[in-house]
Amino acid sequence: MTARRPMIAGNWKMYKTCAEAEETARGIVELLHGSEETDIMIAPPSTALVPVSRIIGDTPVDLGAQNLFWENQGAYTGEVSAPMLISAGCRYVIIGHSERRQYFGETDQDVNKKIRAAIAAGLVPVFCIGETESERDSEKTFSVLDKQLEKGLEGLSEEQFRPGLIAYEPVWAIGTGKTATPQQAQDVHAYIRTFLKKRFSPETAEATRILYGGSVKPANTAELMALADVDGALVGGASLKPEIFAEIIHYKR
Ligand code: PEP
Repeated sequence: MTARRPMIAGNWKMYKTCAEAEETARGIVELLHGSEETDIMIAPPSTALVPVSRIIGDTPVDLGAQNLFWENQGAYTGEVSAPMLISAGCRYVIIGHSERRQYFGETDQDVNKKIRAAIAAGLVPVFCIGETESERDSEKTFSVLDKQLEKGLEGLSEEQFRPGLIAYEPVWAIGTGKTATPQQAQDVHAYIRTFLKKRFSPETAEATRILYGGSVKPANTAELMALADVDGALVGGASLKPEIFAEIIHYKR
């Protein structure tokens, strides 16, 4: 079995001015000591990407964006492209976050175009999927995930997809304080890995890191990270304060 490096990623959403983002990034860098076994990514708002990239520089912290548009350039007022994110220092980009789907009408087809654009430019997509509370209650979780995965990955070859990241983020757990139980998280992560095995290959399924997201905090990280198919966490609210995010990064202590 391939050893998958754990990853802790912070999604700062629409929080922090440039000065605040710089201060937070500095705080995280100062608290990193002893985190060599874990990949760390922070995704500030787009205005703060460049200042934060200067602060994290050669440290083990990688930069991620929260969104992109699929064209490289053009008359698309307000949008930011994959090559622009590369030029700002990004290595990762979060795609298909439920807040984008919910508030900005992003469809699975949009998500697919964004994933392809990210990969074409050399960014690693963090492809978010997850069911709503009513979908879970009506036992549609797996069919919803199947659709999101099938459409999101449509047309992608195995070589193109690797080393993609998937984030399972049950919508009912995002920003609500409700976390999936270990059993719920493990069941879904194992399901996603089986999907990847069928869609690509056992090797790619084994190599793909599947992050859990949804009210991750210091108190529940170790339990989630101990699950066989949970390879990391995508953290929203608890990533905004360096001391709290650092506690999550150091979940093994
Ligand atoms: C997120 O924004 O991806 C997220 C999981 O948020 P929170 O940790 O606040 O639930």
